[in-house]
Amino acid sequence: MSNRTFAIIKPDAVRNGDTGKIYDRILKSGFNILSAKLIKLTLSQAEGFYAVHSERPFFGELTEFMSSGKCMVLALEKDNAVLEWRKTIGATNPIEADEGTIRKDFATSVGENAVHGSDSDENATIEISYFFTGSEIIQNS
Ligand code: ATP
Ligand code: MG
Repeated sequence: MSNRTFAIIKPDAVRNGDTGKIYDRILKSGFNILSAKLIKLTLSQAEGFYAVHSERPFFGELTEFMSSGKCMVLALEKDNAVLEWRKTIGATNPIEADEGTIRKDFATSVGENAVHGSDSDENATIEISYFFTGSEIIQNS
């Protein structure tokens, strides 16, 4: 079981001024932040990141949204990080998200759902390296 996962505070949450509140939730939920940066994805970066969904009807909407403004990308560390972060963010659709989860409190729709979380250890590794070089991952301190 890997102890790393990859997270994004998506453009809707950044636009709504929720970056700091979500960053605080990450820390209070016991994650160690290995790296974090504010970026604006190009459309082709968003298409590459979500390539697994390229045949889905919402792919155009998703990639335009993800490249519509600044987002914060983060590499997170915790025991069982992938599962723990998915529990912290809640269900994809905020209507179905449990009380106290980030999507319940900050997401507005299934499309604009505030945060991303990796769905497997393998994808966590791929996604972290999509956005961070090895030297940007700060392991000690
Ligand atoms: P993410 O990968 O962003 O953490 P997820 O793993 O909970 O989300 P996925 O099935 O991987 O959900 O979908 C990726 C993203 O595509 C969702 O977070 C959401 O932004 C968007 N999405 C998923 N389903 C729909 C839908 N039915 N309509 C519009 N957008 C959708
Ligand atoms: Mg997903």
